[in-house]
Amino acid sequence: MKTLICIVCPRGCHLNVDEENDYKVTGHHCEKGEIYGRNELLHPVRVVTSTVKVKSNIHPRCPVKTDQSIPKENIFPAMRLLDSVLLTPPIKRGDVVVDDVAGSGACFVVTRDLDT
Ligand code: SF4
Repeated sequence: MKTLICIVCPRGCHLNVDEENDYKVTGHHCEKGEIYGRNELLHPVRVVTSTVKVKSNIHPRCPVKTDQSIPKENIFPAMRLLDSVLLTPPIKRGDVVVDDVAGSGACFVVTRDLDT
């Protein structure tokens, strides 16, 4: 039996996932928590947030995130891809910074506008 805290919403339900009983989930208050509990043991994924360098004296970094969840084991390879990124303003929210992150099909996208 594995215990987890559901991170899907702020309620933070304490989940129990029984690996020996077809990953049966208990302790959830909604279906999303049941799905999260199973997936967290079978195929954990995360949206990854970080920052990248910007050629600017005002804003030296710009926030980015993946546009969809990626497998947890791809997080560190994904972060390394950002080390070589250098953006030049103007930058628009939604601009793609890295395509097909670590072969996941997700993109890193900018999450704010930077004009200078
Ligand atoms: S199980 Fe449902 S109610 Fe509980 S934290 Fe997860 S999403 Fe929220």
